[in-house]
Amino acid sequence: MSEHDEQVLSLLDTYRAHDAPTHGGRVLSYVYDSGLAELDALAGRAAARVQAVNGLDPTTFPSVALMQADLLSFARDVLRGAPGTSGAVTSGGTESIMLAVLAARERWREHHPGDPRTPRVVVPSTAHAAFHKAAHYLGLQMVTVPVDPRTGTLEADRLAAHLDDATALTVASAPAYPHGVLDPVAGIAAAAAERGIPCHVDACVGGFVLPWWEGTPPWDLAVPGVTSISADLHKFGYAPKGASVLLLADPALDRARYYALTDWPGYPVVNPTVLGSRSAMSLAAAWAVVTRLGTQGYAELTAGVARATAEVREVVDGTAGLRVVGEPTGPLLAVGTDPDVPRPEQVDPHAWAQAVAARGFVLQGQPALTQADGTVLPRTTHLTLTPASASVLDELGAALRAGADDVRGQAAAPVEAGGPVTDLPDPVALARAARESGELDLPAVLALVEALPRPQSARLLVDFLAAFTAPPTGRPSPD
Ligand SMILES: *Cc1c(COP(=O)(O)O)cnc(C)c1O
Repeated sequence: MSEHDEQVLSLLDTYRAHDAPTHGGRVLSYVYDSGLAELDALAGRAAARVQAVNGLDPTTFPSVALMQADLLSFARDVLRGAPGTSGAVTSGGTESIMLAVLAARERWREHHPGDPRTPRVVVPSTAHAAFHKAAHYLGLQMVTVPVDPRTGTLEADRLAAHLDDATALTVASAPAYPHGVLDPVAGIAAAAAERGIPCHVDACVGGFVLPWWEGTPPWDLAVPGVTSISADLHKFGYAPKGASVLLLADPALDRARYYALTDWPGYPVVNPTVLGSRSAMSLAAAWAVVTRLGTQGYAELTAGVARATAEVREVVDGTAGLRVVGEPTGPLLAVGTDPDVPRPEQVDPHAWAQAVAARGFVLQGQPALTQADGTVLPRTTHLTLTPASASVLDELGAALRAGADDVRGQAAAPVEAGGPVTDLPDPVALARAARESGELDLPAVLALVEALPRPQSARLLVDFLAAFTAPPTGRPSPD
């Protein structure tokens, strides 16, 4: 490597020094660390092999088709699809969901020619934001059905009551991200099938861990009425970011996610996913990881994750003032204030997350949400356990306990949703401060999200992120 190359990479190293640690189990969201350094190295080498390939055209680059076929048949086996199941390898859960919604919309339009209504997507309120985003991009209307705040999910009948002739798609999560709770997949899928409505199972986070999780009720493609499923390779598949699988049980629905165009003067276009030209690097990396691990590898990693999850649950259950919200299945937990202990013993989950962060572990705050029926999903802090968690369990447990001790009794009065908000912070100033100090007052941001009308807080976040990522004026370029 030339001296100049070294300089470029060392500049990158200085940038990377700002990042949260991606390995070692200290960040309990965003990253899914297998704890196997050799697996990461293999993924990197596989990605480098295809660095120059364009995934746009598998006929020119058949390695793309071969790797995809291997991944799809692996996913079809573990998610128990029928032999006719087909699908796509996408860039992530959001893209898999986007395509599932697109396919359902196209199918609805085909069945309702000339119908002026806006087709609907009916979901439990805990369904991932990616469905809202897909509906926004693709012109569908979201219908969010309240879940029971005690369980984190709902009775299938409650959702079924909203399924009508304008419904293009319904959804069950396996599990839902916020509380790690599995929806009643069989009941929702049966109600959908009865009415001829497609049912998508969002197993983005659970797809490559629940197949080996003990005592899980049926949730996959083998459940009658489930028409599609998404499962992220870049979560519990342990692949680097940029890889997810979408499987569709019905070949007609599968075709509906494609886009093809011959009506322009350039090359004939046929795109199975959202992008045109696309990297094959994340595909090759995911392919290498899956090929190397196989079902045996996933089973072993899942056993470690299950042990870590059980231990962390025990820590939370044994910590006065906190409790696990809902009844999670799998390695995701949402922790909230225990309402059954006297106020001086209560622990605010966001203050707790900040205290735990000071002790070296990054947890993810989630704001309270008032549902359509007026019930409130309490503010929580989210933890995702991974194989790497096992290597730091004692330290993590100690940090979770001590963090609670730090802030016990300081439980903030719940912010009245829609109530008056005084001293609105300036998002640009907040972004500038965060960039300079590397610190962000997350409890304050989350409290603001809870207090402001949702569209206003969403705009505030946009302004904040735009400012956080904008090129600073007057800064010299790297060279
Ligand atoms: C992560 C996740 C998604 C979205 O996936 P991205 O890969 O972040 O785009 C969708 N659904 C669930 C349940 C998830 O956990």
